[in-house]
Amino acid sequence: MAEARKFQAIKGVRDILPPESALWNRVEQMAREVFETYGFGEIRLPIFEQTELFARSVGSETDIVSKEMYQFSSNPQFEDLRDARAQALRIFDSVARSSSQPLPGFFVASVREYVELIETKVNSGLLELNKEIEERLSSLKSVLSEAETEDEQKFWLDLRIKTELLKLSEDFALRPEATASVVRAYIEHGMHTLPGNVKLYYIGPMFRRERPQKGRYRQFYQIGAEVLGRADHPRIDAEVIEMLVRFFNSVGLTGTTRYINSIGCKQCRPKYVERLRAELVKVKDKLGADSQRRIETNPLRVLDSKLPNEQEMIATLPRIADHLCEDCKKHYAELRAQLALRGIAYEENWRLVRGLDYYMRTTFEIVAPGLGSQNAVCGGGRYDGLVELLGGPPTKGIGFAIGTDRLILSLQDRSLQDRALQEAASRDSAAAATSGSAALATTSLDVYVAWMGEKAYPTAMKTARMLREAGLRVELPASDAKLGKSLGLADKLGARHAVIIGENEVASGEFMVKVLADSEQRKVRDEELVGHLKGARNV
Ligand code: AMP
Repeated sequence: MAEARKFQAIKGVRDILPPESALWNRVEQMAREVFETYGFGEIRLPIFEQTELFARSVGSETDIVSKEMYQFSSNPQFEDLRDARAQALRIFDSVARSSSQPLPGFFVASVREYVELIETKVNSGLLELNKEIEERLSSLKSVLSEAETEDEQKFWLDLRIKTELLKLSEDFALRPEATASVVRAYIEHGMHTLPGNVKLYYIGPMFRRERPQKGRYRQFYQIGAEVLGRADHPRIDAEVIEMLVRFFNSVGLTGTTRYINSIGCKQCRPKYVERLRAELVKVKDKLGADSQRRIETNPLRVLDSKLPNEQEMIATLPRIADHLCEDCKKHYAELRAQLALRGIAYEENWRLVRGLDYYMRTTFEIVAPGLGSQNAVCGGGRYDGLVELLGGPPTKGIGFAIGTDRLILSLQDRSLQDRALQEAASRDSAAAATSGSAALATTSLDVYVAWMGEKAYPTAMKTARMLREAGLRVELPASDAKLGKSLGLADKLGARHAVIIGENEVASGEFMVKVLADSEQRKVRDEELVGHLKGARNV
């Protein structure tokens, strides 16, 4: 007789039960409402993707990719082949990276093992090779047969490349994060041809094999958003941070600290990283094993270290702010000015490098009280160039991910659950009713704020904020344009109204409101704008 067995959720994975699940729903709904007022539309992504997508974008040397991904093979019968190939490549890479004597014998033996495994399967009829794979196999075998005679660098590299090319099943991974998937989807669906910047948000689970503790799980949830397009004005970065602040305020998460930094670009960062590496090599003996390894693999990550005995030494390291190129300096200064204009308090943190390879220039993190050591509730940054790296056209990008588990923990910790729920329940019902619509952000804008002249921007920014707070979906371009061009873009984006703000309007406090469908226009005073536009929407 079968023995009665008690099943339990796997380590690091948990159930979310009522009444807590109600808070989760509320928080996620609030994100939808706030993000949609900024013109974002939801993207639903697959839970698993090709492993290579994450390796290429997040970086194969990062902890996430090298240690924490849950992977499986497209054909489970051939998992031994996948492991044998991965083992050979790993041996080569660790030898190539380390400064110690190479161990070519080991490497050659592991490649041989891989080849023999393939042949055994073929001979026993388990595996049938197509022509391309057959050619790759014979090409690898011919390099292998020279193994005894050659010892040139080129030979090892050749062997590695041919081993890598001989791949018999695809590897998939449960997504450890979602930016890579958003970028893949952006390219796959040709979204670069859409007008303006593409603004997408996602909500869902991510998977990382981390050591579980409070606030750190193996299946955890993120609410994230990305802005992809041609523009990289720091106003976009500041608006994204403003949206986060609004979201956190709306769920009742107060007392957060926002950290910002700039980690430079392709021009200036490599030089800084070399400086940093040179300094780190000098103090190598004083560092722990992780940091010692990172001197080789990713010196920036040493700045992330929380080890108490490394802190004093880290404080003396060169700082990236002193090594930024002129363009990056300007971008960072403008970001700070834009945050100040929006009344957003922040702290600069030169050690905020973020773990993933794709970040550049702006990085930011939001920390919440009541969470102990896992206190980051949101991380993000700019990643211009990632779209190109994954095979798309030159594109700028910025995004963030909020850790929902931690956000909820922080809300619960401060007994704010009731308040958030009450506030949510008493929210303007008209706004709630419309925000449930699943229409794409790019086709469901209420208002396009067409501003002209730098002096008009602060008023345009405040007007956009006021309209968004009233639940309207608003696009505020980061740069101004001639009126005709602005109205053309407003029309393409599907906006119902354009609010026109030039210097005269700033002085008079009276804005021109244009109905885009029939070109009707009228002047509306600042204080009547919300009523006018909401009235028009309900017609
Ligand atoms: P990252 O994708 O690593 O930039 O993380 C973004 C946010 O996701 C972090 O600030 C955390 O709030 C959250 N997060 C990351 N990893 C975990 C995890 N293992 N468990 C819970 N939350 C996590």
